[in-house]
Amino acid sequence: MSLLIKNATIVTQNDQRELIDGDILIEGNKIIQIAKNIDAKADIVIDATGKIAIPGLVNTHTHIAMTVFRGYGEDLPLHEWLEKKIWPIEAKQTPEDAGIAAQLAFCEMIRSGTTSFAEMCIHDAKSLFESAEKAGIRGIIAQGILDLGDTSKIPELLNKAKTASEYQTELVHASIAPHAPYTCSEELLIKTKELAKNLKYQIHVSETRKEVFDILKKTGKYPYEYLDSIGLMDANSIFVHGGWLTKKEILLAGKRKITVSHCPISNLKLATGGIAQITELDAAGANVSLGTDSAASNNSLNMFETMKMASLLQKHHYWKADAIPTQKLVDFATRNGAKAIGFDNGSIEKGKLADIVLLERGPNLCPEHDLIANLVYSAGPQNVTDVIIDGKIVMQNKKILTLDEKAAIEKAAELSTEIKNR
Ligand SMILES: [Zn+2]
Repeated sequence: MSLLIKNATIVTQNDQRELIDGDILIEGNKIIQIAKNIDAKADIVIDATGKIAIPGLVNTHTHIAMTVFRGYGEDLPLHEWLEKKIWPIEAKQTPEDAGIAAQLAFCEMIRSGTTSFAEMCIHDAKSLFESAEKAGIRGIIAQGILDLGDTSKIPELLNKAKTASEYQTELVHASIAPHAPYTCSEELLIKTKELAKNLKYQIHVSETRKEVFDILKKTGKYPYEYLDSIGLMDANSIFVHGGWLTKKEILLAGKRKITVSHCPISNLKLATGGIAQITELDAAGANVSLGTDSAASNNSLNMFETMKMASLLQKHHYWKADAIPTQKLVDFATRNGAKAIGFDNGSIEKGKLADIVLLERGPNLCPEHDLIANLVYSAGPQNVTDVIIDGKIVMQNKKILTLDEKAAIEKAAELSTEIKNR
């Protein structure tokens, strides 16, 4: 199967960050040529005249089953929101419900140009793997676990964490995710890292100030230093949030080459106070990527919005309008995201996996003094017309081909009402 995209403005995200006006030839699941006027016969030809081709965006922190809790329990303090609203309703969710939420989430991701994700799930991961396979979307899924200090649960929890490996596919790989250092015993943290071997290891770290000081009190170390002392920091580690890091921890993140998944909108909405210093983390050599977090704390899965907010927060935080180059935000959402989840995508280059999004130039993208700034500050899901993942078209002319979007929305809306009455 071959696919030829003609006449696009290509934001390659290659090492030189070239912008090329031309064609992209895809054979199977890989990009095999990028050039002007490619003279090749292809099974499918997409005329992208007037459109922009970008690498598919990578969302490195999601809780997909929570998509049906969008807007549920607004304007509450974080702990009240969790304890009185989110945890009780989550406890009523079944694996089947998670599958319904997943179909809704994947429609939203595809429509907003996201082609890969990193998921930490609470419920049975099986239904998420199945939904992802149906959607044709790429990612990593971990069966999230926590023991709240009760080490007798560890054997059972490790078995639960292992189940993700049974369901993995070529497009969606298994990952390991203990919830956080303040909800998991040291023994569980160490054993999950041993279990992960070469799998991506996702964990929430330093989201709130309280948890940082609790860890400091318990271990005498700041969270990154503590996790490093037990062998948790390496290039396979995705540390989510990092809103309250010391300078020493930032340097350590760079030295160990971990990914820090920054979720600016969720942090702001939950008023966690601290903002990941991604400018310094990036300069130190850490792999900075971006995530939405769940639609319950965001309230969308829109990575365009996330790039914009991440940029604005750095400028605001440092009182410097040039705190971060705009290009960096696109890097975080594409190349660095790909590195975080461990796939050879994230740029439009010969030999790379063909995950490509086409954008139409609406009024919000005109004029085009700076195409990269338009992507970060002005673009949105309304510009996304076509989405290709692994060489296959999953959305064409704004119609999702792999999922029944109307049914997904109806089912999710029905479930959101019904679950409250259970
Ligand atoms: Zn999270």
